[in-house]
Amino acid sequence: VSPTQAEILQRLHDGHVNFLRLQFSDVLGTVKNIEVPRSQFEKALSGSVMFDGSSIQGFTRIEESDMLLSPDLSTFLIYPQFSREEGERGKVARIICDVLLPSGEPFTGDPRHVLKRQIAKAAESGLKLFAGTEPEFFLFERGEGGRGTTLTNDQAGYFDLAPIDKGERIRREITNKLVEMGFEIEGAHHEAAPGQHEIDFRYQDALAAADAISTFKFVVKRVALEYGLLASFLPKPVAGVNGSGLHVHLSLFRGGDNTFYDKAGEFELSDTALHFIGGLLEHAPGMCAVTNPTVNSFKRLVPGFEAPVNVAWSTSNRSALVRVPAKRGNSTRAEFRLPDPSCNPYLALAVMLAAGLDGIAQKTVPPPAIQRNIYQMTVREKRHHRVRELPRDLYDALDDLERDEVIAGALGAHALEHYLRAKRAEWRSYASVVHPWEIGQYLELV
Ligand code: GLN
Ligand code: MG
Ligand code: MG
Ligand code: MG
Repeated sequence: VSPTQAEILQRLHDGHVNFLRLQFSDVLGTVKNIEVPRSQFEKALSGSVMFDGSSIQGFTRIEESDMLLSPDLSTFLIYPQFSREEGERGKVARIICDVLLPSGEPFTGDPRHVLKRQIAKAAESGLKLFAGTEPEFFLFERGEGGRGTTLTNDQAGYFDLAPIDKGERIRREITNKLVEMGFEIEGAHHEAAPGQHEIDFRYQDALAAADAISTFKFVVKRVALEYGLLASFLPKPVAGVNGSGLHVHLSLFRGGDNTFYDKAGEFELSDTALHFIGGLLEHAPGMCAVTNPTVNSFKRLVPGFEAPVNVAWSTSNRSALVRVPAKRGNSTRAEFRLPDPSCNPYLALAVMLAAGLDGIAQKTVPPPAIQRNIYQMTVREKRHHRVRELPRDLYDALDDLERDEVIAGALGAHALEHYLRAKRAEWRSYASVVHPWEIGQYLELV
């Protein structure tokens, strides 16, 4: 249940909040905010704050730039204080906003609206998507002048219980801050690579899950800064060790029932679950530019680092794109292992839902589950098991996105056009740079 405007005003007052941040996301997933002082709280909560959309990546052209921020009152929260100086300046609260045109219509290019469209589509069939996210990230030392490095501050590994190091302390503090903010955190642990960590959210409805990720990234970075470290969500910051993923555990509910569970089905999965998985696999190449949107994302998607390389599903092994964890009953779910934390969480969840719903509509049957390590399969074995490959780089992924009518359609014309334009520019910028590897490899050789 969402608080009323009056209740929020009261909480702002009682909590000695000096600033309210009106947050939204640009097409690439960068969180934008307009911060208003106390005198503007009422106006802000009534949805009357305007901004110039023309300077936001992926929004409008100059000639139609006025936009309104319409706060989603259910997202109100007061930020915990991160440092002593901050305490003196008073508290800051945030509320996530939908972006509207001056006419009051939703702006179709708003990523949050893109996700809401898919949620509404699912609701037409009485279905609701739940998502449990597992963001991974690295903590790095800062060097000269506070600049980020890729030097890690520990040598621990997966689930290690190291003597209390900086990383562990920071992870706890991040978790405490998130809990203080009202998020349900199921666990936090050291990940496989030195300096790598993971924090797991309890599953929640897809919109709330997307809202949580953007705030989460801010909190992680903020706490790390407090300890003089850099928190990075770059998918593959260090070659030769695991990269960072953003696994998403997906389930579709009808009322209180998880539609993925069927006691009598193969693996105790329902046809709905199989078709949903079929849709995820079918559209994985088209989704990739959204779930793995940076040049660097594709350096994570290589064999040997628990990240998917091929389009396959499994009930056991972690080299697959979709893994179905052992839990059944209402906990039955598909773990989608493709996304990484550089994605726009709204667009990423929107395309996952679109892919799954398309699978259900088309009754897409996934290829048989593969229980062995796909990294070790030969090309011929992969062909035999109908295991396809993911796009190899951002360039190919963008073409796959443009070609996939379901995924492109889910983004909608506005977001798609701006997304492709921004990402193709990013690719061209990368492709025209001469990288150190090339100099090392070729300069004297050829
Ligand atoms: N870091 C791995 C990835 O890139 C996942 C590792 C894990 O959670 N088992 O997806
Ligand atoms: Mg995990
Ligand atoms: Mg993990
Ligand atoms: Mg996982």
